[in-house]
Amino acid sequence: RISLTDRCNLRCVYCMPAEGIDFRPPEELLRDDELLLLVRIAAECGVTKVRLTGGEPTVRPAIVDLVREISKIPGVRDLAMTTNGILLEYLAEDLARAGLRRVNVSVDTLDPEKFRRITRGGRLERVLAGIERAEAAGLRPIKLNAVVVRGFNEEEVVALARLTLDRPWEVRFIEVMPFGTVADVADAGIVTSEESMGRIEAALGPLEPLDLSGEDPARTYRLRDAAGTLGFISPVSQPFCSKCGRLRLTADGRLRLCLLRDDEVDLLTPIRAGASYAELKEIFAAGAYKRPFG
Ligand code: SAM
Ligand code: SF4
Repeated sequence: RISLTDRCNLRCVYCMPAEGIDFRPPEELLRDDELLLLVRIAAECGVTKVRLTGGEPTVRPAIVDLVREISKIPGVRDLAMTTNGILLEYLAEDLARAGLRRVNVSVDTLDPEKFRRITRGGRLERVLAGIERAEAAGLRPIKLNAVVVRGFNEEEVVALARLTLDRPWEVRFIEVMPFGTVADVADAGIVTSEESMGRIEAALGPLEPLDLSGEDPARTYRLRDAAGTLGFISPVSQPFCSKCGRLRLTADGRLRLCLLRDDEVDLLTPIRAGASYAELKEIFAAGAYKRPFG
């Protein structure tokens, strides 16, 4: 997972404070050439799946060119993006042509007013248009991510789940994680996956479990006769750390194995100090194989 920027065009209540965010100056972030060098090294070390995220990846300058260059790197077989979808309406076709395979779009509610509240100002219709455009551009399968937050959208899980009756999408519900700056949102009381499943079953009928055991942290189900599936991601009530094989590269060039751990390996400093390719690869590999939980 590569964070392309720390910036975003939304301010979701569970992710960023309303104001006073200390964004990094651009010169402290990886440039395109530096980022491509690290992806090449990662691919040589065995990484085959790359997911672009952020912040909001679509606000990174020249995102389409960057996607094209990443998709050309030998060994990168699956190139995906997690996005809030606000700019997808304009970018989906170019991204697909540049080599992006698929997108996960974050949308926490289908109610425009609630969407505005949870994202502090976002316009739902742009996201919905973006999802349609992404599907038309062949960015499939479409996955939608909804973080469930008490007092904001816990009832919305039903309308979101209903989408899968007609559309071949995977709608995934995520328990909110209490990150430092936005911990108050989680203090309102976590909505567990079990609670959301109960709400969905009460309204739409039984959830049939699907055995899709793999690296995906989502537990997957289907409503009867549905075209799509439902996933439940439970980092709080059922942590999936032992299954997690992710490497995270931050926008400022640090390699992190886990969002919830502070240790990280700085790759930007050696790049800018002129480290050779072989030296960088050694630093990368030493950090990458330091798995968090043994
Ligand atoms: N801006 C893009 C987006 O919203 O999809 C990509 C970055 S966002 C940080 C990646 C994912 O993390 C989104 O699905 C978002 O909903 C989720 N997320 C953000 N804050 C979270 C939190 N406190 N707990 C659980 N998931 C969170
Ligand atoms: Fe932006 Fe994504 Fe965070 Fe929302 S979850 S504020 S869209 S980075």
